[in-house]
Amino acid sequence: SAPFNFSAGPAMLPKAVLQKAKEELTSWRGSGVSVMEISHRDPAFMQMAYKAEQDLRDLMKIPDNYQVLFMHGGGRGQFTAVAQNLAGPNDTVDYLNGGIWSDFAIREARKYVAKVNIIGSAIETDQGLAYPPQSEWQLSEDAAYVHYCPNETIGGLALHTIPEVSAPLVVDMSSNILSEPLAVEKFGVIYAGAQKNIGPSGFSIAIVRDDLLGRAQGTTSTIMDYTVQAKERSMYNTPNTWAWYLSGLVFEWIKELGGVTAMAERNNRKAKLLYDYIDNSAFYSNPIHPDFRSKMNVPFLLADAQLDGEFLRLAESEGLVGLKGHRWVGGMRASIYNAMPLEGVEALVSFMRDFEQKHT
Ligand code: PLP
Repeated sequence: SAPFNFSAGPAMLPKAVLQKAKEELTSWRGSGVSVMEISHRDPAFMQMAYKAEQDLRDLMKIPDNYQVLFMHGGGRGQFTAVAQNLAGPNDTVDYLNGGIWSDFAIREARKYVAKVNIIGSAIETDQGLAYPPQSEWQLSEDAAYVHYCPNETIGGLALHTIPEVSAPLVVDMSSNILSEPLAVEKFGVIYAGAQKNIGPSGFSIAIVRDDLLGRAQGTTSTIMDYTVQAKERSMYNTPNTWAWYLSGLVFEWIKELGGVTAMAERNNRKAKLLYDYIDNSAFYSNPIHPDFRSKMNVPFLLADAQLDGEFLRLAESEGLVGLKGHRWVGGMRASIYNAMPLEGVEALVSFMRDFEQKHT
């Protein structure tokens, strides 16, 4: 039941996970100390940490020729890591630009790589914002990798098909990892900041294909070097033990609920409910082409922006929090990640209906 937290990130965690963490906070596994207070080299901690890795491997069906790295620095840390680990300073890299997060990744890559080629950008169509078809992308012949963000958290633009490219494909899944089944073998690197579908912020996961190791630029910070972290199994320096532990609880929670297939069913139902309501209303609108809509982040506008403040105040008083759109784009945004139950979206739609009736 309410409150329901629609924040884009850090986002809501499953209630069952928070409950378990609370129970174990001061005495982890009956030890009398917190999981935050023990060495990351402690056998019990390592067992927990590598079980979390195994659970993630099981959930995503990650093939053995991929390393799973638990790293520092969130999503943006990986913007740097990808460029420094996969390309030389004189290389060319390809980026698809779908919005604000792609753009930040592009700007970061420009610091470390000679040529950052934009293969295509989001386009305005008469049905809303969309991606150009892949046949129109300007791919380089010699790119060290091709990067894209399949779920633009701020704009709500999603690419639901995996690009077919010959260079290693690198993907920023910060806001949609574990939300549905994924063909991991199509990617060179999959990375995600943790604070939406995984766990606490500042933590990140990078899934790196073995053949892409050993390419880091000499100036790469050692803690951001995929090869070092792979060799040290993500314990080159002290990892964020609390975030690792909590992420492990989230992986267990997803497994218990039936894995990513069950997550996808749940997420599809939630997204359909909300988009159907918006599409059938003259009062609310969503700016994205139906083929390119995010199932995680649903931005929407009220017919009269002057009502935004009242909408947010009333929503909050009914326990629907975190609905304010990103400060750069305005309007509203409902983030409905894995942890958001269907009842949360039902409550939101019911509130939106009442608000619409009151104002039309
Ligand atoms: N990439 C995407 C798609 C995001 O949504 C975000 C953050 O919201 C980031 C990257 C940046 O993550 P962080 O704040 O952990 O650096």
